[in-house]
Amino acid sequence: MKFGGTSVKNASAMQNVLEIVKSRKEQNPVVVLSACSGITDKLIRLIQDASKKPAKIMMKEIEAIEIHHLNIIEELIRKKEIKKHCSENVQNMIQQLVLLVEGVSLLRECTPRSLDAAVSFGELLSSTIFEAACRDKKLDSVFLDARHVMKTNSDFTQASVDFKETKNLANKNIYPLSNKRKIIITQGFIGSDDNGVTTTLGRGGSDYTAAVLGSVLNTDEIQIWTDVNGVLSADPRIVHNAVTIPEMSFDEIRELSYYGAKVLHPDTIKPAILRKIPVRVLNTFHPENEGTLITPGTKVKSARIRAVHLKKNCINLSVEVPHTQNPEIQAFEILSQVYKSGIKIVSTSIVDNKIFVTIDNPNESTYNSIKNILYGFDYKIENVSLLCICGVNLLKDSDILQKVTIILNRFEPKSVLYGFSSNSLIVSVPNGNGAGALNAVHKLILDDK
Ligand code: ASP
Ligand code: MG
Repeated sequence: MKFGGTSVKNASAMQNVLEIVKSRKEQNPVVVLSACSGITDKLIRLIQDASKKPAKIMMKEIEAIEIHHLNIIEELIRKKEIKKHCSENVQNMIQQLVLLVEGVSLLRECTPRSLDAAVSFGELLSSTIFEAACRDKKLDSVFLDARHVMKTNSDFTQASVDFKETKNLANKNIYPLSNKRKIIITQGFIGSDDNGVTTTLGRGGSDYTAAVLGSVLNTDEIQIWTDVNGVLSADPRIVHNAVTIPEMSFDEIRELSYYGAKVLHPDTIKPAILRKIPVRVLNTFHPENEGTLITPGTKVKSARIRAVHLKKNCINLSVEVPHTQNPEIQAFEILSQVYKSGIKIVSTSIVDNKIFVTIDNPNESTYNSIKNILYGFDYKIENVSLLCICGVNLLKDSDILQKVTIILNRFEPKSVLYGFSSNSLIVSVPNGNGAGALNAVHKLILDDK
């Protein structure tokens, strides 16, 4: 069970997490926690500033971090002894942070290694408090320092996991506790290298920790607890009646994420994908919600639309190559230059003597490259939004395609692209029509319910 930063941001959020862990203790969970939301950012700023300023100036910010955590203890923990002991632990960690800040300030140098040492306090603090709160509520919990299990290389700030060693250590350090039905509380995001030096897995790395631990322990399930009701059928800021997708496949997640939807990044759950361990996305603030179960293959067999996503700020570039000399060869030549220029390409096609390129998020240098590459050619640029329609067997179902076509005709579609499987379709529409088109296609999902 992994809980993200917003799930542990303060005492009342942690209280929710406590209830959830308590109600699921029969599942014999390993609990992986993020830092309280905002703390990782604060620690990064702190340690980077320390390399430019005298340490004394930084003490106010360290104190603010300390107070934030001591306040949670004050609100959350009842028993005097546990409260006292936990506060002392927090103060000790803050003392270590002070030493680190003083060291970096003295050297006037913040290395990636120092950065990892500093940010690790975020997860260490949140998990220390949460574990004490568990004991306070009479849960049979135990604190596990993730650095004793998660072994990585020394690529500080984005370390790679050594799966073999991590599996060995998990067998040695986690199984015995788990067999005693202890609730294990540990940190996401952090690990240690061969020399025991603290490393981190890259921003947002706690999901990855959960997937790695789930994979090496071969758990029944990996739960990602966050602040939304699972994976939604659309961005609720654009489509107010977006619904939770109850279950979907790893492939669908990959496809949605490829088009820019804010879902679990497929790379973060890769260890789970490889071992075919189901991943469930749940809402800490609405645990009664079923969330989304992500599995190797979906149960949905008949064709249907599952999610829509709007990719704004794209352009359609169309170029006409004169028929006079070898238009195909010229077209390929132009496309190869476009690829080499580093422009963010969504798709390309050549039809007869015309080239069509869809480009994501163009900036000044994109326009300059286009100007240079296409000097002397006749070309047109249209600003568009891309409507990414993802589902199951979409392109194999003429009925769905017909419905989508009829709906989108009202929104002046500019081009239609096929996704990288039969499960997605991308339609570009003028920027101003994006939200309307998205809502109209999303209605097909709701009608299907
Ligand atoms: N606390 C880390 C971060 O904010 C890791 C995580 O939350 O997943 O990047
Ligand atoms: Mg975080």
